[in-house]
Amino acid sequence: MTKKIVPVQKNEYYDVKIESLTHDGLGVARVDGFPVFVANALVGEEINMKVTLVKKTYAFGRAVDYFVTSGERVKPECGIYKQCGGCQVQHLSYEGQLKMKHDTVVNHLKRIGHIEDANVLPTIGMQNPSRYRNKTQVPFGYADGKVVAGFYQKRSHEIINMQSCLIQTDISDQIVETMRQLCQELEIDPYNESLNLGVLRHVIVRVGFKTEEIMVTLVTRTHEIPNSELLIQRLVSKYPKIKSIAQNVNPKVTNVIFGDETRILYGEPYIYDEMNGIRFAISPRSFYQVNPIQTETLYSKAVEYAQLSGNEIVFDAYCGIGTITLFLAQHAKQVYGVEIIPEAIEDAKMNARLNGFENTQFAVGKSEEIIPAWIENGIVPDVIVVDPPRKGCDRSLLDTMLEAAPDRIVYVSCDSSTLARDLRVLIDGGYKLEVVQPVDMFPQTAHIECVAKLVRA
Ligand code: SAH
Repeated sequence: MTKKIVPVQKNEYYDVKIESLTHDGLGVARVDGFPVFVANALVGEEINMKVTLVKKTYAFGRAVDYFVTSGERVKPECGIYKQCGGCQVQHLSYEGQLKMKHDTVVNHLKRIGHIEDANVLPTIGMQNPSRYRNKTQVPFGYADGKVVAGFYQKRSHEIINMQSCLIQTDISDQIVETMRQLCQELEIDPYNESLNLGVLRHVIVRVGFKTEEIMVTLVTRTHEIPNSELLIQRLVSKYPKIKSIAQNVNPKVTNVIFGDETRILYGEPYIYDEMNGIRFAISPRSFYQVNPIQTETLYSKAVEYAQLSGNEIVFDAYCGIGTITLFLAQHAKQVYGVEIIPEAIEDAKMNARLNGFENTQFAVGKSEEIIPAWIENGIVPDVIVVDPPRKGCDRSLLDTMLEAAPDRIVYVSCDSSTLARDLRVLIDGGYKLEVVQPVDMFPQTAHIECVAKLVRA
């Protein structure tokens, strides 16, 4: 076997042009075809870069000089953008972000799926692409003898204090800041990671956008929280919309935020939110989409693409807490949801009951195992909807879908490279790709969501 020659060397400088962006917002340049990833570099920019790390099949570089800058480059609004790493494309105008997301989908379909002329619509963006997250998750710690609450500095475990985060709600910024002050005042020690000492590890604030109800979860190392009654009193009197305060205990030395034990310290075990006129109950541990405005948009598109008249049997694979399932159930005869996490299915069933749906059924298990079993039992789907994690659908599920031959397949995707791979299988199996609609669920970040409609050819 001939050994491939790597055409770049560490610490050497190269003039390159950025061709595309990776899923985490890095610019991609090629030196003799060899990909180099460069932070803070946009498509079309011509730069001089220094190679910082070389791997077998790719390298990383740092932009040193810009010869041609992109017309889409803007000054990031957030003061801590560079240190934080939570957002990746704030240096790109919002219009530019939407275009980049569209182009990425087109490129993946071409390069990975060999789909040349797909009808990929312009990305649906947000009217106001800031303050869109309904959930804030903030680590607490000490720095210079003071309580700090913010985010881990990129690639480190040092916590940087944060007064404001552009993509989180104002109210959650305020609650986090109040918590920081109360910790100081009421002598609630923040967690010390290196010694595994202290009390408060994380604060999680969740807000129902429609209902304005707020849930605060305190993740602690210990069961006891000093002055907890005073803490609760102060929080609730300052923020009357707090309907629930929970404690989760995590005594372990770990990067995982939650421990196994959760209890309610104040108020209700749930807060509620609403999407598409459907109420969802949210508990401290339950999954709920973080951008409810765009979730409504994306999932409504999925329902539109399902083209339901009220008589259809629909399968919703990877159904999570049943958000899409319930959206579909408003228009279908019967919807079957399947999801691997038992707690999510419990939430899905509760949400179906809460809203009086009688045409939904849920199963715990792998989509690739449950769906063949349904079909085996004589259930014939008219439409199949899938919303898999980043790795896409299991190949055997795609084959099962082709055998079941529903009239329509709606594919909701959070990774257009695996979407492209799976679409190729479905197209080869006899489906026609009608349309792909990217929806911007995570402005300022490089994440891309889209929904594709396939019809039996
Ligand atoms: N539409 C859902 C979210 C889908 S995210 C909602 O709105 O709630 C993808 C989901 O697929 C996750 O909940 C994950 O737990 C689940 N999952 C992952 N692999 C799976 C598999 N093989 N079979 C079924 N579900 C799976």
